Amino acid sequence: MTPTAPPYHGSCLCSGVKYQVTAAIRAVSHCHCTMCRKAHGAAFGSYGSVPGDAHVFIAGEELLRRYASSAQATRTFCSVCGSPMLWQGKGHYADWVSFPLSTLDTPYLAPKQKHIHTASKAPWYDIADHWPQSM
Ligand SMILES: [Zn+2]
Ligand SMILES: [Zn+2]
Repeated sequence: MTPTAPPYHGSCLCSGVKYQVTAAIRAVSHCHCTMCRKAHGAAFGSYGSVPGDAHVFIAGEELLRRYASSAQATRTFCSVCGSPMLWQGKGHYADWVSFPLSTLDTPYLAPKQKHIHTASKAPWYDIADHWPQSM
C-alpha cells in the first residue's frame, strides 16, 4: 500500500455519519486509558489528530451525540450505531481534534505512532510492536 495524502474520508459503522479531513494526519496515538477502552470496546483507541478546522462532518451531523467523559474531554459518537467519531480536549490542544483511525475509509499509513496511558492498559493485552510507549 502506498501512503495517501489529504483529503481523507471516513464514516461510522452505519454510514450515516461521514467526514472529511483536509490536513495531514498528525500525532497518531493508541490510547490505553480506561475511558478509551470502554468507548471503543477494544484494547485501546487509535487516533489521528488534526487542527479542528481540518475535520469537517459532511453528512449525518444530526445523528451525533456528545458525552463529556471527564472535565477535560468530550467524545462525539453516532447515536445510531455507536461508533466513536471524535475526541476533543480542553486546555492546551483545544483547537485540535482526534478521530478514531478505524473510521477512515481512505487507506492510510501512519509513519509514526505511539502508545499512551499504558499504565492503565488491559491486562489481557500485550503491546508487541516497536512504537514508543508512555504511561
Ligand atoms: Zn452510525
Ligand atoms: Zn484515552
